[in-house]
Amino acid sequence: MNNTRYLTKTLFVKALECPTKLYYHGKKNEYAVIEANDFEKALQEGGFQVGELAKCYYPEGREIKTREHNEAVRQTNELLKQENAVIYEAAVRYDRFFIRVDILKKEGNEIHLIEVKTKSIDPDDKKKSFENKAKGEGHSNSKLKSYIDDAAFQTWVMEQAFPEFKVIPYLMLADKSKVATVNGLNQMFRVKKINGRIVVQRTFDKLTPDMLGNKILTEFPVREYVHKMINEGIAINPDGVKPLGELANEYADYYINDRQYPITIQNRCKKCEFKLDDENLKKGLKSGYEECMAKSFSNFAPDKPTVMDIWDFRDANKLLDSGIYEMKDALKYLEDKNNSDRIERQLLQVRKTCFERDGKEDVKPKLFDEMNKWRFPLHFVDFEGSRAAIPFNAGTSPYEQIAFQFSCHTLYESGEIKHIEWIKRESGEFPNFEFIMALKDVLDKDNGTIFRFHIYENTVLREIHSQLEKIKPKAVDYKSLMDWIDTITKNGSRNMVDLHEMVRKYYYHPDMGGSNSIKDILPAVLSASRFLKDKYSKPLNFGTNLMGKVWWKNDAVSGKAIDPYKLLRENFDDNRDVINDGGGAMTAFGKLQFTDIPEEERKEIISDLLRYCELDTLAMLMLYEHWRSLRDSN
Ligand code: SF4
Repeated sequence: MNNTRYLTKTLFVKALECPTKLYYHGKKNEYAVIEANDFEKALQEGGFQVGELAKCYYPEGREIKTREHNEAVRQTNELLKQENAVIYEAAVRYDRFFIRVDILKKEGNEIHLIEVKTKSIDPDDKKKSFENKAKGEGHSNSKLKSYIDDAAFQTWVMEQAFPEFKVIPYLMLADKSKVATVNGLNQMFRVKKINGRIVVQRTFDKLTPDMLGNKILTEFPVREYVHKMINEGIAINPDGVKPLGELANEYADYYINDRQYPITIQNRCKKCEFKLDDENLKKGLKSGYEECMAKSFSNFAPDKPTVMDIWDFRDANKLLDSGIYEMKDALKYLEDKNNSDRIERQLLQVRKTCFERDGKEDVKPKLFDEMNKWRFPLHFVDFEGSRAAIPFNAGTSPYEQIAFQFSCHTLYESGEIKHIEWIKRESGEFPNFEFIMALKDVLDKDNGTIFRFHIYENTVLREIHSQLEKIKPKAVDYKSLMDWIDTITKNGSRNMVDLHEMVRKYYYHPDMGGSNSIKDILPAVLSASRFLKDKYSKPLNFGTNLMGKVWWKNDAVSGKAIDPYKLLRENFDDNRDVINDGGGAMTAFGKLQFTDIPEEERKEIISDLLRYCELDTLAMLMLYEHWRSLRDSN
């Protein structure tokens, strides 16, 4: 296959994020690229499924399958000679630009360019109207805005290549106001990796409109926004506004001639995909991020903490623009700001990381005041859920909340610890009402304090509340379930305590860096706590799936505790990919919905999900135990 370098729609959108990225793109043997995490992979897989469903809504379409540019363009042009045609993956080339259009519908001299995306949209939601999101209002880097950038680039290329046609662009999005009318819609599209490429296989040879039910994707016209971008221009930091064609040509010059676009370090660089991780370091690859930093700051050293590492630091760009990148140099700036909880936390991080460097945790006495209000038995809960673009069940909408699993560790005043779990094992059934009944069974026996970590559990419960209100399921006492949800969610009499909020307000350990995630806190508290080391260096004597395993192990290199999420693999030496984040759990649930997976594989997936969720609540229990040992030794 001999494919010349072209600026594609993916590269154009990437360049709008940062044009310097074009230089590192496609050099996989030279520069490291951080792979998508499990959550991003789950979303990508959902995207492939949506793409396939979209084609089903245009059953007369012909697909351009070849990846070879010249042949793909030739086949597309051949089909465009027809009066009417629908083409999937239509290949269009103009000068140094090349696009593949998800769905191209030609009617006479009109071309409907349909770009299919996984994003959900609720056309009835007036507050967050399509129009505001499309303009990126309130969120300069809104996902929808980047989709419109993509559609705009394609429209421009198409208009240049075929000036005789009128091009009308659409975004085809998952419509949250629509409800699936058939069961198992999601499972009609199976995502697989074949020879390194992701493909979607339909589980039925022919999908008829009856089998698909209600249309859940909607085409939203975006011509107005797209033409604004083409004619009036796109706002680019720091270069002002440039017309789309001018920008596209500029990016193409840099990309095709393999020149590096002038570097502008901004806070976005902390998430640059051209950073080194341990895996890529072993392969001897270079870091594009470090090259950019070294060219921008003469005193740059990779091991120095930067202003981008400061937690929730919204003024990072101001300092970067003035030539300051080291975290220590942000101290004065932060000290001069008006005090607030956020600034106080940022100052604490900067002082602990750059000045005191004692490696000691910081605990505010108010934490102990809060702890003294908590009532036994203490329940630590964690949920796993899924939001699929294509619904699993009839009666649900795109991205509707599915709660399929929970774990709960309960600590009694006597010191006894019990673990209870629930998971939806059967495929193809809407699990939420069983989930909430099982949860109520566990938590409604006493009036002990319930703990969550961050907002997710509250969000899930409120969404189940709405579903109960909407569906009014006859098989359950939905009113009492709704009342109960009201008591344990925000503003309820037994509102769950958010441990994330406790951490943010009252606890800091330098090993957490700028993160308040439980996955970063856990290794830090394990290393800091004598109590946890003593207790968890022995095989665990409570729990369900994690019992009998050791969860405090020493890392011989750092001398600190190994992250227990990494121990999941070591402790269960069964040669499987472990689930160690919510995205992995979501993908696992999606697999379970296929009725034809082998029984052995189903058992393994369920067992992996149970281990992961139990570790999440064990982590919360450990955090509490560490705090309690500090309080009691005071
Ligand atoms: S480090 Fe920053 S400037 Fe360099 S490529 Fe990445 S995002 Fe762009």
